[in-house]
Amino acid sequence: MTPKIARFLEEVRPATPCLVLDVDRVEANYRALAAALPLARIYYAVKANPAPPVLERLVALGSAFDAASWEEVELVLAAGAAPSAISYGNTVKKESAVARAFAAGVRMFAFDSEEELEKLARAAPGSKVYCRILVENAGADWPLSRKFGCSVEMAAGLMARAGALGLDPYGLSFHVGSQQRDAVAYEAAIAKVGMLFTDLTERGVNLRMVNLGGGFPVRYSEDVPGIDHFARAIMGAMTRAFGNAIPEMVVEPGRFIVGDAGVIASEVVLVSRKAKDDPVRWVYLDIGRFGGLAETEGESIRYPLRTSRDGGAVGPVTIAGPTCDGADILYERTPYRLPLALRAGDRVELLATGAYTTTYASQSFNGFRPLAEHYI
Ligand SMILES: *Cc1c(COP(=O)(O)O)cnc(C)c1O
Repeated sequence: MTPKIARFLEEVRPATPCLVLDVDRVEANYRALAAALPLARIYYAVKANPAPPVLERLVALGSAFDAASWEEVELVLAAGAAPSAISYGNTVKKESAVARAFAAGVRMFAFDSEEELEKLARAAPGSKVYCRILVENAGADWPLSRKFGCSVEMAAGLMARAGALGLDPYGLSFHVGSQQRDAVAYEAAIAKVGMLFTDLTERGVNLRMVNLGGGFPVRYSEDVPGIDHFARAIMGAMTRAFGNAIPEMVVEPGRFIVGDAGVIASEVVLVSRKAKDDPVRWVYLDIGRFGGLAETEGESIRYPLRTSRDGGAVGPVTIAGPTCDGADILYERTPYRLPLALRAGDRVELLATGAYTTTYASQSFNGFRPLAEHYI
């Protein structure tokens, strides 16, 4: 909660549910990361929050962008970014989308399979391409599973082939999983990529770039190491892997840039118990899993809560959303405690909700409108 957001909530009292995001905090986070990793170029992962005020501020700061679709490429261009500052980082793309991005001037693309490489050769000839390696996501609260990346052996063959297909074999990438709390994940991934990089270079493939992905964590209900801790681990691992011939470095932060810049204001719809003497109350909010809080799936991301009744006695609660869907429960196993005085109509603020919320809101499940947004 920044002072600007607190003042806005107090003075404007916007209708709930809504996200209020402080764009100055976005700038501060960008600057903190740039200062911690001065050798890395920052490609903001647009999917974390694609709102124009966020993109425009980042364009003004000189950020580059990681887009996951043609539609995200369009958003970034509309915010004023040059096509040369865009990487099309999704390894799963329609060929028509690749062709559109290429026609718009995008010249950097990710892939992790032979078929995707062939698509790029046809629809984006001569472009810089980088292969995503499958790495361990242990330590991440929101892992990306095995959906993206390929084995080192497969990557070696595909990168060696990229040149013959008329593409520029530019580099290698990985993603250690989102909300990654363990810097060792980066160290292990860099060691793996470093060996492949060296091996390919010795075979005459002209690689120049390592893309470290995103994953940098935000403080939710538990402390996380600061960005300097990750930067030190990353630079140590880069030096061990490459000596003094460190290649171009790219990072693709999403959550770290926008997560703690936003607060969702919500209202209590109902407080109830399942039996008269049940110690656990059910607190139903006007926002839930389908209103933008998709990352509460598996109770993976545990947002800190503030209420208008804070300060009084508290007791255990299960927290749920307002829809008629049994999956619309935010926290049942995580031991949240909220004020005993909490009533329908009270305000509840969900902190650090600037990333992965607005775009996850359903169109009108149960008739509820998508999450309202205020950028200040
Ligand atoms: C989602 C994504 C990111 C951003 O991840 P964060 O954990 O939010 O930093 C970066 N790169 C790629 C390829 C992604 O898909």
